[in-house]
Amino acid sequence: MSADLIDGKAFAEKLKADIARQVSALKEQYDLTPGLAVVLVGEDPASQIYVRNKNKSTAAAGMNSFEYPMESNVSEAELLDLVARLNNDPAVHGILVQLPLPPHINEAAVIDAIAPEKDVDGFHVINSGLLATGGNGMVPCTPLGCIMLLRDRLGDMSGLEAVIVGRSNIVGKPMAQLLLNENCTVTIAHSRTRDLARVVGRADIVIAAVGRPELVRGSWIRDGATVIDVGINRMAKEDGKSRLVGDVEYAEAAKHAAAITPVPGGVGPMTIAVLLKNTVTAACRQANIPEPELSSDV
Ligand code: NDP
Repeated sequence: MSADLIDGKAFAEKLKADIARQVSALKEQYDLTPGLAVVLVGEDPASQIYVRNKNKSTAAAGMNSFEYPMESNVSEAELLDLVARLNNDPAVHGILVQLPLPPHINEAAVIDAIAPEKDVDGFHVINSGLLATGGNGMVPCTPLGCIMLLRDRLGDMSGLEAVIVGRSNIVGKPMAQLLLNENCTVTIAHSRTRDLARVVGRADIVIAAVGRPELVRGSWIRDGATVIDVGINRMAKEDGKSRLVGDVEYAEAAKHAAAITPVPGGVGPMTIAVLLKNTVTAACRQANIPEPELSSDV
């Protein structure tokens, strides 16, 4: 068997085009321009790339993009002060504080300071609680992007066995809630899981969110499974350059799976597209107007 490629890049492009269409309709009908504020503390090169891409995509969708670069030695109080100002700024509908933050800043305190309705990352405890209890909060971008790819590929997932490797608050746990909402039977595996190969081997859907290159071996994948690889691991090459590798041993897994996301070009591009979608959702909710529907081909 040779797996179909789940082309997250192409899907994300369609989604972004649809969001640009929604934004232009919101401007015309309601004089509303969704605005996203991105706060970047310090000069972590990977974070700088993410933030640059986010700002570019926001502007390309016709939305307002507000950038707040801060020195790495900024105090927690100054950062909280900025978040409070953004919470009160009516032109800002979404606030994203790029993680990780320097060690002297309490990440949880900063996330909890963001107004839940502007928390487009969906990390605020109110939004995690709403997701866990079936409410209508902001849903974390990466897991929501994975669900959109899965729905597109599989349609009804009811009764399918889903195994998530990784239990972080930003990927693994919200992913589990979303798969439960799809009526999957969900297992969350982690570093203490016994016999990971056997657990992964029973899955119809495998989500790998570990942060260890190729930890999920291809031979573990059950024939016909759908594999979503969230991992982004930068590996040094002999020529001094680097390449990105996922958490799944791609070439071997593709021999067993029915469909698989590549790295890069799978989940990564979806995360930014969903961030834009969440910003539009947040803007509509704050303005108390109906949320636009996605077009049928997305
Ligand atoms: P975390 O480090 O927060 O969590 C990793 C999880 O993997 C933990 O639950 C950990 O278990 C588990 N784990 C570690 N080692 C093993 C092992 N040997 N066997 C089984 N489980 C193990 O990572 P994140 O969730 O933040 O990110 C995961 C990956 O996804 C990273 O590569 C990250 O770069 C990528 N990512 C990609 C995004 C995208 O846009 N595509 C967005 C966000 C993340 P335990 O809890 O027991 O320690």
